[in-house]
Amino acid sequence: MKDRLIPVTSISSGIEQPLTPDIHCLPIQVVNVCFVGSPVHPHDWVLVDAGMPKSADDILATAQELYGENNKPKAIILTHGHFDHVGAVEELVEHWDVPVYAHELEMPYLTGEMDYPEPDTSVEGGMVAKMSRMFPNEGIDLGSHVHPLPADGSVPHMPGWQWVHTPGHTQGHVSFFRESDRSLIVGDAFITVKQEYLFKVLTQEQEISGPPRYLTTDWDTAWESVRKLEALKPNLAVTGHGYPMAGEELTENLAKLNREFDTIAIPDHGRFVDNDDK
Ligand SMILES: [Zn+2]
Ligand SMILES: [Zn+2]
Repeated sequence: MKDRLIPVTSISSGIEQPLTPDIHCLPIQVVNVCFVGSPVHPHDWVLVDAGMPKSADDILATAQELYGENNKPKAIILTHGHFDHVGAVEELVEHWDVPVYAHELEMPYLTGEMDYPEPDTSVEGGMVAKMSRMFPNEGIDLGSHVHPLPADGSVPHMPGWQWVHTPGHTQGHVSFFRESDRSLIVGDAFITVKQEYLFKVLTQEQEISGPPRYLTTDWDTAWESVRKLEALKPNLAVTGHGYPMAGEELTENLAKLNREFDTIAIPDHGRFVDNDDK
């Protein structure tokens, strides 16, 4: 199991160096979940996002490996409620009995009131877009377990972190930023894998990319969110899909994505794209 944990390291100097000893990232099939909290002095930790459906056992095993037995997280914090980020959350909540936090605008999708729009299978993006018709878009119901993130920008049980509203991919999408070492947990506001490879387990070619296309509903706002994240000047970005990116590589790629968002990120055609000749 341990060799599957993505080392959150910098290789820009040619030598792998741990950047943050308290963020561990576990890729479950094609989506990352983050364990935030130091395993060396195991006390408080939180889980950010909850992976694909049926991944609860994987997450529980990794949690035990990192933090020891019977050391449950203080909370589960969600970047957004898409199926690939909340897949195990109901099972984990039942198992751990911990609160879940998400942005207020994401609440309806987490309390059974609303479903996300159906994925756009017509969007530019190759097989993944076509495959996306199989992706569940139904909201889940966490009932009284789920709470809105505090209005003051703080993140429960993640001291030193702030949540940043990064809508566009979903209305209530958030990213998490820690000023002290400029770490950023991005969610799907941007990703570091090519769109076509998004849901291919074996070929995850690294390339900065906009949010996953078939589910992104507001592209202008998504661009605005990337601008907001670039302005934070992150030194490390752990994205919902793809490998973490750090240092100069991150700075350059994020600047490029921001500059060329209309060509890199926004699909040429699709249901959620403004059409000039409509
Ligand atoms: Zn998503
Ligand atoms: Zn995702």
